[in-house]
Amino acid sequence: MGGDSSTFAGDIKVEVDAAIDGLNQRLREVNRKIWENPELGEHEFMAHETLCSFFEEQGYAVTRSAYGRPTAFEVLSGSGGRLVNFNAEYDCLPGIGHACGHNLIATSSVAAFLGLSMSLKKLGVPGRVQLLGTPDEEGSGAKIKLLDAGAYKGVDASLMGHPIAGDITGSGSDNSINDGVAGIRMIARQYLSAEYRGKNAHAGGNPWKGINALDSAVSAYNNISLLRQQMEPDDRIHNVLLESEKTVNVIPAYAKAAYQARSPRLASLKVLTARVVNCIKAAALATGTEVEIT
Ligand SMILES: [Zn+2]
Repeated sequence: MGGDSSTFAGDIKVEVDAAIDGLNQRLREVNRKIWENPELGEHEFMAHETLCSFFEEQGYAVTRSAYGRPTAFEVLSGSGGRLVNFNAEYDCLPGIGHACGHNLIATSSVAAFLGLSMSLKKLGVPGRVQLLGTPDEEGSGAKIKLLDAGAYKGVDASLMGHPIAGDITGSGSDNSINDGVAGIRMIARQYLSAEYRGKNAHAGGNPWKGINALDSAVSAYNNISLLRQQMEPDDRIHNVLLESEKTVNVIPAYAKAAYQARSPRLASLKVLTARVVNCIKAAALATGTEVEIT
């Protein structure tokens, strides 16, 4: 390109597209490596290494283990102007790998970061881009810890894409496909875990001496099932049993369950969460177990 045409955004878009297309093979390799080696939250050491090395290979300075989190990282580019942040997630789900595609989140954020970073450079306009590697989305939601540690300080816009099945965002038909859906409304979510503690006893010999922790978890599950009919239409509650004792002829003294409440707004989530807590406490009261909710 010669003369003034090099300043045309359209020409620059063609150039940036070509540069990202040129990295297609490498990006696919990075994506594949994360997909094939799923790592749980805060243990994404291989993904951390793969992504950091990729950026170094592309000539960017990388802060590994950024903001005091071993598997977080940060890449910054540009100067002056406003700051746009992209988030890269790369943790998996227990037992089912990258079932919701965090490998794709990482790869798309990396490509978006590269695209914007190259565009700013070529256009010669002020502006900064940040790629934040954000561990443990599925568990503790480590972005909150990163936020508290100042990782998002000065950020003007924070962006991320998440793959999702077409029939979840569709019009109700099972085979509806919504390519290019953007800006769907996300809802507030509260995670709770409850540990129920009772007392072992022989289930055949003297079961009346036991305090059944598994009964508490089952009772809480049933309480929540009763609650569902009286919830707001957009509210959701999920509940799974995480741990229970394995000996069938012993009254279980320990059980652990996980709960997740979702609601469109924080205020309504607060109300819903309080009702879930009541379901758990009522179960503990009915069975005489101690319960610790965290
Ligand atoms: Zn996800």
